[in-house]
Amino acid sequence: MVCAAEVEIDTAASQPEQRERMSPRKATATVVPAVAEENMFEIAAAKPEQGVADPVKALKVIREDLGDCKRCVLHQQGRKQIVFGVGNPKAELMFVGEGPGADEDEQGEPFVGRAGQLLNNMIKAMGLRREDVYIANVVKCRPPGNRTPEREECETCSPFLMRQIAVIKPRVVVALGAVAAKTLLAMNSSMAQLRGRFYDFNPAGVRSGDPNWTGCKLAVTYHPAFLLRDPRQKGEAWKDLQMVMKELGLKIPPSTS
Ligand code: SF4
Repeated sequence: MVCAAEVEIDTAASQPEQRERMSPRKATATVVPAVAEENMFEIAAAKPEQGVADPVKALKVIREDLGDCKRCVLHQQGRKQIVFGVGNPKAELMFVGEGPGADEDEQGEPFVGRAGQLLNNMIKAMGLRREDVYIANVVKCRPPGNRTPEREECETCSPFLMRQIAVIKPRVVVALGAVAAKTLLAMNSSMAQLRGRFYDFNPAGVRSGDPNWTGCKLAVTYHPAFLLRDPRQKGEAWKDLQMVMKELGLKIPPSTS
């Protein structure tokens, strides 16, 4: 049982003692191109969902292609089911986490445990509903003991996430935590270096079937599970979300803008 106060996102401005603990942030958001060197000359292979105009059907094609996936070792390390992703297939905003935990593995849906409750509160604080956004993870099977997914597992599974992003065509992707940020951006930087700016993002190895979608913005914030462990960072996460809200043209509550 989780008390409401425990998962509530603090929408108040960060306290001075928090600021002292954080690395300096840029006053205004900047956009940094995120083109991984290894992807620069990559030829995006045709994917079966390309040409499928309806994103619901296109996501179904990707899920069918994934099948009863055994592409990485996580298939034999106690997963109950594959956790594909959930939400609005035409979402303007997408959240990407690390991998399913026990609750997610049980229910087959990402972010349904305590961290999921906090993510729901974060989404609500932005003036949105969970069903407005799309939520997925870098790896779709639960790592045993909730360990961090290995790089190889992320590299094996993430092409399916990239294809999901190319189908959904969001305006903004929010990477929740270092694993998601490093996988999506192919950058090995610290959270302090990754946060506080936008990146130009194109899903690696795949092209959207829509020539009008030329990629999106990507922002990095803390994983809700980390915020549950260190609630003092909620103010910083709220700054990241406000940056995203401005980009999406969402109204920021006057008390916190
Ligand atoms: S984590 Fe991804 S690649 Fe690995 S078995 Fe599960 S679905 Fe397949």
